[in-house]
Amino acid sequence: MNTFSINSDRLWDSLMEMAKIGATEKGGCRRLALTDLDKQGRDLYVAWAKEAGCTVKVDQVGNIICTRPGENNDLPPVGTGSHLDTQPSGGKFDGVFGVLAGLEVIRSMKDHSIKTKHPIEISVWTNEEGSRFAPAMMGSGVVSGRFGLQEILDKVDVEGLRFGDELERIGYAGDTPVTGRKFHAFFETHIEQGPYLEAEEKQIGVVTGGQGQRWFDVVLTGRESHAGTTPMHLRKDALVATSQLVLKVEEIAKSHKPGCGTVGYMQVLPNSRNTIPGEISMSVDLRHPVDEELTAMDEALKAAVAEIIADTGVDIALKPIWYYAPIPFDDNCIEAVRNATIDLGYSYMDIIAGAGHDACYVSDFAPASMIFTPCLNGISHNEIESTTQEECEAGCSVLLNAMTRIAGLVSADASVGEAVGA
Ligand SMILES: [Zn+2]
Repeated sequence: MNTFSINSDRLWDSLMEMAKIGATEKGGCRRLALTDLDKQGRDLYVAWAKEAGCTVKVDQVGNIICTRPGENNDLPPVGTGSHLDTQPSGGKFDGVFGVLAGLEVIRSMKDHSIKTKHPIEISVWTNEEGSRFAPAMMGSGVVSGRFGLQEILDKVDVEGLRFGDELERIGYAGDTPVTGRKFHAFFETHIEQGPYLEAEEKQIGVVTGGQGQRWFDVVLTGRESHAGTTPMHLRKDALVATSQLVLKVEEIAKSHKPGCGTVGYMQVLPNSRNTIPGEISMSVDLRHPVDEELTAMDEALKAAVAEIIADTGVDIALKPIWYYAPIPFDDNCIEAVRNATIDLGYSYMDIIAGAGHDACYVSDFAPASMIFTPCLNGISHNEIESTTQEECEAGCSVLLNAMTRIAGLVSADASVGEAVGA
């Protein structure tokens, strides 16, 4: 099968150019959703997309939609996309790589005079990170119907600034309806944000799904009393019970491979050196790619809580606050990614997305899958997040060839650039 090449230097230069907007001293990026910097990043992106021949629309939640016409524009587009916003101390690649890889696909299609049956469409989804306005993945979440538009527009940040007002202020409150979006197929290219590809020395992760999540708030109530006058056998120490629960969460995750279990937040009252802790609030985050296993982890957690209550006399209130079912990606999209990877001669492995991504919400209403590329030491959400030009080139090449094939290649000029036979 013939494959098409991308322009690796152009992709890398665009990544480095975009990284200047909100650049941090440690080499990372701070470009929070709906700030002036987000506006600058969006403006640059829109200018590039128009230059590459796209028509650009903005929807009611600020998602940017860049379209390259196909032979038949009544057909639903083949889409790609990710996000331009970053964590407060984020890197240059998380999200940004996905939208710039999409742009490079369109630029390369122009180079090769590629004509496709279906139109090609890039989405820059609004506020994927969820750090200024919670929750995460707002833009794709509204389009998928997981969140209501008004509910999202009314969200406020810690300073009380309203999402809808900020969207208006930066000039990205568009009028394209958030409802009725369709894709023939959707792909998202993203750095892995984990260590598996690097450890296995693979260039491409063929992402087969996203793992499920169950989140809990837990309150443990013991009895505050004096650290010197309360004998050990008369104590109800909330922190001792909490410690047992934290270890149980770890044990539950380890006995349900490849599940994950995390206690990431804890507040101790009264948090005083010589008082036995009386009340503790903490979080539990359980994840697993298989729903039955996630349910088993949930049951194990409940059993552990009952056991610790009986053991310690500390009262424990376990409140489930979020359930996110595991997401199986579309078989045809997965195959398209795998075939493009094989034809291009890259090493690969199947992988599950550990984090949430826009493609997970898109898969609610359209066939979708993802392409992962390695990142140094598996680190992201960090200013030191790093990847190489070659790794980006591989991910973007797979994206170009998977999208071209699914969109139906009508014609291409093999003499422009190199359309190489594999
Ligand atoms: Zn991301």
